[in-house]
Order: sequence, then C-alpha cells, then structure tokens
Amino acid sequence: MIVVLLGAPGSGKGTQGMPLAERFGLAHVASGDMFRDHLNAGSELGLLAKSYMDKGELVPDDVTIRMVLDRLSWRNAAKGVILDGFPRTLPQAEALDQALAGQSKRVDVVPYVVVSTDELLRRLGGRWICRATGHSYHVASNPPQTPGVCDLDGSELYQRADDSIDVARTRLQVYFEQTEPVVDYYRGRGVLTEVNGEQSIEQVYDELVHALEGSPVH
Ligand code: AMP
Repeated sequence: MIVVLLGAPGSGKGTQGMPLAERFGLAHVASGDMFRDHLNAGSELGLLAKSYMDKGELVPDDVTIRMVLDRLSWRNAAKGVILDGFPRTLPQAEALDQALAGQSKRVDVVPYVVVSTDELLRRLGGRWICRATGHSYHVASNPPQTPGVCDLDGSELYQRADDSIDVARTRLQVYFEQTEPVVDYYRGRGVLTEVNGEQSIEQVYDELVHALEGSPVH
C-alpha cells in the first residue's frame, strides 16, 4: 500500500505519520526528517537543504525527488510506505507516479488533514519537538508533563527554527501556492480522503485509520 499523507505545516500529520505506519506495517518516509537527518550528519545535501528550510522555502525538486525515490527502493519500503511531506509540488507528484508505474504500483490512498489557516499559525507558533525521536507537543493544546522534557523518552524539547512566526507564514504561503495543486491532482484521481484535522489527536488518528482501511488494497 502506498499512502501519501497530505496536510499543511502544522496540520498534525507529523504526529500521526509514525503511529499510523506502525499500525499498518508500513515504512514512514518523511522528507523533512530526512533533510534534518542529513543536516545533523553534516552532509552536503543537509547544508543545501538548510539554506531553504531556514527561510521556509522548498528544497529544489531535483534533489528532493532523488532523495525520496532512492529511499523508496530500500528493502523495508517493499511492503508499502506512508509518505509524509512528499510530494509537495506537481513535478514531485508526477515523478512519484512515474517511478511507481515502473514497478506496477500506484498511490493508493491520500488522506488530507484539513485545518484552517488561523489554527495552523497558532499551532506552528507553540510547537515544541523532542530531540531524540521527533514527538511533537504544543504549549496550549498538548503540553508535556514537565516543560521542556519529552513525556515518552525524557529527552530535551526544542522549537524548530522554521517555526518562528515569520518563517511559519512563508511556509504556509509556499504550501498554498505549491502544494495545494497536489491536493487537486489527487482529488482528480479519486484517491483523496479529507480528514478533519481540528479534532483531538485520537479522533484524527481514528479517521486516518478508517481512511487507510477503506483503501482497496488494504
Ligand atoms: P517538514 O518537516 O515536512 O515541515 O519540512 C521541513 C522543510 O523541509 C520544508 O519547509 C522544506 O524546506 C523542506 N522539505 C521537506 N519536504 C520537502 C519536499 N517534499 N519538497 C521540498 N522541500 C521539502
């Protein structure tokens, strides 16, 4: 099963992607996490990506497509994947389709987590993330038990540099200009399922599970 999890920055898809992948035995492939891993490793790709990420802009399609398609060829992706944060542009969506078609596969289901713009800005401003595994918290709606410490693994929480309000605004603008056409692309193909992202984390998760279970290949 190939799942593309769509949603604006701050829609909560980062919180849902990993548990959803575990439940369905799929690999979780998150392009933003891959860029951050490259950056932590000090690779050339990481440094290139940082120059775009810091401004809230998209990393160019050619490097992004190469990185993600390479990841899809790993053995642990053979049973299926949840793509999280990719594709974010029409050329990325087309490149993905072309690569999958070459293996007689296709994108099976595209859950789209819908959240209003005001709510997205509010969420991005208060987001804290765990350094070890990326668990996400929010100062108001999902605070950790001890400020600055992850409930699940005790590691330090930090605020992403690109969550500052100016960069968050740019990320949303980029999302509306470049990624919303991808929503329409999948809607036109009949694989899009809208999920209300303004519910509790558990309710959003349940709707996402329902969307995946409703997929013809499940
Ligand atoms: P995310 O963690 O998904 O919010 O991604 C963080 C940043 O990584 C984005 O703001 C972009 O700069 C970059 N990025 C992640 N995925 C992509 C993608 N599919 N295409 C281009 N840039 C991306």
